[in-house]
Amino acid sequence: MAARVDHGVVSGTFSLDGETFEVDNNVWVVGDDAECVVIDAPHDVDAIRAVIGDRKVRAILCTHAHDDHVRVAPALREQVVAPILLHPADRPLWELTHTDYLWDVDLTDGQQIEVAGTTLVALHTPGHAPGAVCFHAPDLGCVFTGDTLFQGGPGATGRSFSDADQIVASIRAVLFQLPDETVVHTGHGDDTTIGAEREALGSG
Ligand SMILES: [Zn+2]
Repeated sequence: MAARVDHGVVSGTFSLDGETFEVDNNVWVVGDDAECVVIDAPHDVDAIRAVIGDRKVRAILCTHAHDDHVRVAPALREQVVAPILLHPADRPLWELTHTDYLWDVDLTDGQQIEVAGTTLVALHTPGHAPGAVCFHAPDLGCVFTGDTLFQGGPGATGRSFSDADQIVASIRAVLFQLPDETVVHTGHGDDTTIGAEREALGSG
């Protein structure tokens, strides 16, 4: 059975630097009918589990440690009994949300995560956050970019632990190496493609 991508939208808040915003987050689930991995753990465990169904969860993959992406990761871990994976450069952000728990496995650039007969490749793309990671699924022709690349351009870099020059450098050096037709599944909002965003960002 071929792996597929399932999707939900979960509403809640994002807080950083003393401000709080209402946000809708995408949660992405990659797998088949038997097993899956979850990309990000926003806001509400029940809403995430509705996308998972009764499948075995192999891992909870975090694109970065902003609170709207990891707040319920430990609660989800407890329910589905799967390790949380996060790039260690995001520890300062993680610790703003979770002081009693750490994640389980450090993500590294180029790391391969196998699920349901397909492979996700972790791509370290710092800028929105120091430990921001995208997950490329070559067999599925898509990449999960978290808040690094959206429909319409790079993610926000106005707050602490972000770097505007670095996010653009990461997008050009890493994400724009992927084929134009690669579908981009983002952390918030609609899908796009690598080709559309390459054209929009220009060669600068
Ligand atoms: Zn973020």
